[in-house]
Amino acid sequence: MPTVDQVLNNPLYIAFHTQYRHMWNSLLLRAERAGIHFVKTPSKSGISARITCERRSPQSQAALYAKGRTRPGRIVTNANAWQSPHQYDLATDVMLYLNGKPCSKGSETPWGLWIPMVRFVGLTSGADFSSLKDYGHVEHPRWRLLARQFGVDV
Ligand SMILES: [Zn+2]
Repeated sequence: MPTVDQVLNNPLYIAFHTQYRHMWNSLLLRAERAGIHFVKTPSKSGISARITCERRSPQSQAALYAKGRTRPGRIVTNANAWQSPHQYDLATDVMLYLNGKPCSKGSETPWGLWIPMVRFVGLTSGADFSSLKDYGHVEHPRWRLLARQFGVDV
């Protein structure tokens, strides 16, 4: 498996990451226009958002993967270390709030605004996963291409 430095210095990583940040910034602009603010100050719409995770270390990913398998709890991810776009900085998790209260995943209006915007800018929403739907998860649609560059089977 690659080291973090090998990932960060790979030209393919740099290209993917630049593209991801560009798409992510477009998403934030759209969100801002829709009244979803990425700061804690409530907007007129009452909708705000907070980033809960960007880069996740391979060690933390392995610990999550162990949940419900070799550790107590229920299964929360299908991805082991280096098998999640979070290890490549190509995914971001958000939580949405309505009037300061966290919105339950998927069922409330703010998610109904957010998810179409994710798709519109060409990013992939975890709401579209076939198993373990993850409404707050946003990822680069081709991050697996990068992972395969490092010999990761994804
Ligand atoms: Zn995620």
